[in-house]
Amino acid sequence: MGTLSGKNAVVTGSTSGIGLAIARAFAGAGANIVINGFGAPADIEKERSAIETDYKVKAIYSAADMTKPAEIADMVATGEKTFGSVDILVNNAGIQFVSPIEEFPIEKWDAIIAINLSSAFHGIRAAIPGMKKRGWGRIINTASAHSLVASPFKSAYVAAKHGIAGLTKTAALELAQFKITVNCISPGYVWTPLVEHQIPETMKARNLTKDQVIKEVLLAAQPTKEFVTADQVAALALFLCGDSAAQITGSNYSIDGGWTAE
Ligand code: NAD
Repeated sequence: MGTLSGKNAVVTGSTSGIGLAIARAFAGAGANIVINGFGAPADIEKERSAIETDYKVKAIYSAADMTKPAEIADMVATGEKTFGSVDILVNNAGIQFVSPIEEFPIEKWDAIIAINLSSAFHGIRAAIPGMKKRGWGRIINTASAHSLVASPFKSAYVAAKHGIAGLTKTAALELAQFKITVNCISPGYVWTPLVEHQIPETMKARNLTKDQVIKEVLLAAQPTKEFVTADQVAALALFLCGDSAAQITGSNYSIDGGWTAE
């Protein structure tokens, strides 16, 4: 029996990177999973069926677009209908765009605020009634070191992640007496497609080579000079779902190689 046996989890943005690692860690602990995110259908099906065969749990896929409130509500409802409940919600989907503010495309600002911030509000809003009814819940938001400190050229991302930290605290207070905890995890740089894809934009914004971006921008921020791994973030998320974490709520957990200690 895993520590999450009998529990059902929705993990947004779990077709890749940190979300996929969290989905697999939760499945490894016995939870049924709703995976979500974009990607080639064959790749997504491979990930979904691997979760079922590797961990002997059930996994379904929701194609909900995190810019669409109705689709987010439907994703939670589908999880409840399929598994009987959504006990754990991880708001993890996110995108990045790097540009000076005066050139920042307005549609990129809107997309980042929608996906990285508002989607968590819509997901939490949809999941609360069921969690309250059952008297148990875990809500985890993937924030970022950028929920605590800023970097130039990431205005939308930093604004959204600071917003996520505030939403986490507010929801934690509202749900404190319902045995529902709400926390966020703030990773430093984790080597995932999100980080890889921002390298060309950062090369342009800062006039650097790829190697310089990795050493002088990404790892320069982290005193350990190492990337965080997606599995390390997933292990922290799993801990926050456990009984030992029942009194941890409204917290913002840094996992950033010392970045925000400076
Ligand atoms: P990733 O690109 O590997 O994964 C992002 C996921 O979000 C993918 O599954 C993608 O399909 C999904 N997604 C994107 N837009 C979506 C939409 N409109 N609807 C539904 N799903 C959508 O990135 P990652 O690095 O694993 O990022 C996951 C989270 O971790 C993000 O919130 C990111 O901001 C945060 N984060 C990442 C790092 C890092 O260094 N990689 C650091 C701190 C925080």
